[in-house]
Amino acid sequence: MSAATEKIRSTPLDERYEKAHAAWRNLTIRKTVRARLGEMAAGPERCMYCGESRGATVDHFEPVARNPLRTFDWLNHLLACTPCNSHEKGEQFPLDADGHPLLIDPTAEDPFEHLLLTLSLGVYRPLTPKGQATIDVLGLNRRGLPNGRMHARKVVELALHAWDRAHAHARSDETQKHVQTVQDQPFADVCQSMLRQAFSPGADLVFSDAPDLLALLRRDDLRAALLR
Ligand SMILES: [Zn+2]
Repeated sequence: MSAATEKIRSTPLDERYEKAHAAWRNLTIRKTVRARLGEMAAGPERCMYCGESRGATVDHFEPVARNPLRTFDWLNHLLACTPCNSHEKGEQFPLDADGHPLLIDPTAEDPFEHLLLTLSLGVYRPLTPKGQATIDVLGLNRRGLPNGRMHARKVVELALHAWDRAHAHARSDETQKHVQTVQDQPFADVCQSMLRQAFSPGADLVFSDAPDLLALLRRDDLRAALLR
């Protein structure tokens, strides 16, 4: 990787992008990066932006067109689905007035500091300008995603109640199976949001239709099983 970066660095500035772009087109390199990202993914290899589809492509968080020297920078590679990577983000990389990226970097930042998931609608709301830019650039509320998140909420709810019943009877292989169901779900952000919002000031309102679920989400033994 560093040899590839050095080759780009030794290229005149105005030719760097072309050089980097051509080097990245080398299928062997792309496949190697993709495979290593896949090995590092916890559980199913989902898109690191939307959490829905398979992360079939390697996204450059900072686009090659903007910074060719980061083409082979390991920390600049994210697993992403084609809709997030190519159809939505493309080469967009908005900056704030101080020149800092306005996109949430899922490898380095806590998305929930910038985004709030409205669990009843499956829609993300911004908490900060960075959250707003991330929603816009990645199309986080695009058609299909809110419904998928609402479905995930339902599946998680059913699995957690099933976990509770199995746990009450000390059936540990069954409890593990239900934890696995939650972990294999697309939209891991939904379960994370549920666990977090269970302790938010508005929790009673957020879970007003499911007080049993709220009580369950607040239990230490369940949280330990899910966060293990
Ligand atoms: Zn995606």
